[in-house]
Amino acid sequence: MKKIAVLGSTGSIGTQTLEVVRNYKEDLKIVSLAAGSNIELLEKQIREFQPEFVCVYDEEEAEKLKKRIADTNTRVGTGMDGLKEAAVIPSAEIVVTAFVGMIGIQPTIEAIEAGKDIALANKETLVTAGHIIMPLAKEKKVKILPVDSEHSAIFQCLNGEKKGTVEKILLTASGGPFRGQTREQMKHITVEQALKHPNWSMGRKITIDSATMVNKGLEVIEAKWLFGVDFNQVEVVVQPQSLIHSMVEFTDGAIMAQLGTPDMKLPIQYALFYPERRYLPGKRVDFHTLSHIDFQIPDMENFNGLALAYQAGRTGGTMPTVFNAANEYCVGKFLNREIGFLDITDYIQYAMEQHKVMENPGVKDILETEREVYELLEEVMHEHHHSNHRL
Ligand code: NDP
Repeated sequence: MKKIAVLGSTGSIGTQTLEVVRNYKEDLKIVSLAAGSNIELLEKQIREFQPEFVCVYDEEEAEKLKKRIADTNTRVGTGMDGLKEAAVIPSAEIVVTAFVGMIGIQPTIEAIEAGKDIALANKETLVTAGHIIMPLAKEKKVKILPVDSEHSAIFQCLNGEKKGTVEKILLTASGGPFRGQTREQMKHITVEQALKHPNWSMGRKITIDSATMVNKGLEVIEAKWLFGVDFNQVEVVVQPQSLIHSMVEFTDGAIMAQLGTPDMKLPIQYALFYPERRYLPGKRVDFHTLSHIDFQIPDMENFNGLALAYQAGRTGGTMPTVFNAANEYCVGKFLNREIGFLDITDYIQYAMEQHKVMENPGVKDILETEREVYELLEEVMHEHHHSNHRL
């Protein structure tokens, strides 16, 4: 019986993780859960999976949940201490990190310190703190198992191969709902339009990230850390149908690819059972009806978020944190209808231009940089709002 902690259990990845667990009740057991504030769903999850411990980040909601589940044996925690407790719970062998955003940094690091394997969905953590997480995982001999579909695909393609034989990673991208459009055409995109992804149903933040292609940028940096390659070895290929989840080219010219219908339960299940493969119900790729798979090169001019990610990754130090924090802040503002769609990457660029890079930042420096970026953007957005001016 593998014992699992799910951090971010009420989200898109979290609920799909629980679906996998539900399908394999004899092999998988939930021991802790954590979420932000959605206690309605958390209560249902507690009653179904009977974890030892849950954390609700929001203090008031945690108090309410405590009363609601007083008849169960599940303990309730709150705040960052609670998130960490959920991550290091002694009985867990593997921690699924499915929080959205940099909130995952500290719980992930503590879980690794405690010797837990990590099934990593929370890419923002690796983008900002990969230089801390990867060496620590090596030192503690814990596995970092990718859940992001592209990285799971690469991980599967690398199975049994020697590290030195990788020529490059071909990271596939759908291109999002606005593929083929110019910045001029994307000027007036609404929140509703941006939330409609052609192939995947995901949380709101990553759906916007896919529309701007910032998501692919985050994934480029994520790939660098997960697979120990440099940025020249990570190439983005647009594959609009999202059937090829990514590919690896080897030094002899051979290219391995992983294909499948888009379903996040596949990479989640692969990470939970690694190195075993298990049956997963669902639709299969049908080569009789599939007439073609298309490829394009990414448009980094109109989708400058991708170019900015390469730049942030190559610069290193605190710059990936600036890229990520500015994006998290701007996506929140866009979803609140306070800024436009194109403003997201324009403000990321602005924040990067203003930043003085610190090499090799510690966790404290990363969180401090995040705070500085938020302050900078709050100030400049406030000014622009009052002067009716855009970047
Ligand atoms: P969702 O927005 O659907 O879920 C986010 C989860 O994080 C929720 O459980 C939410 O709790 C929790 N959360 C948010 N803020 C806090 C907080 N302060 N403290 C504790 N918990 C918090 O996101 P997704 O599942 O879509 O994405 C999760 C991660 O996985 C992201 O990093 C994303 O980039 C990555 N990913 C997602 C994919 C997908 O298909 N969805 C695919 C590949 C990667 P609550 O519900 O209470 O707010």
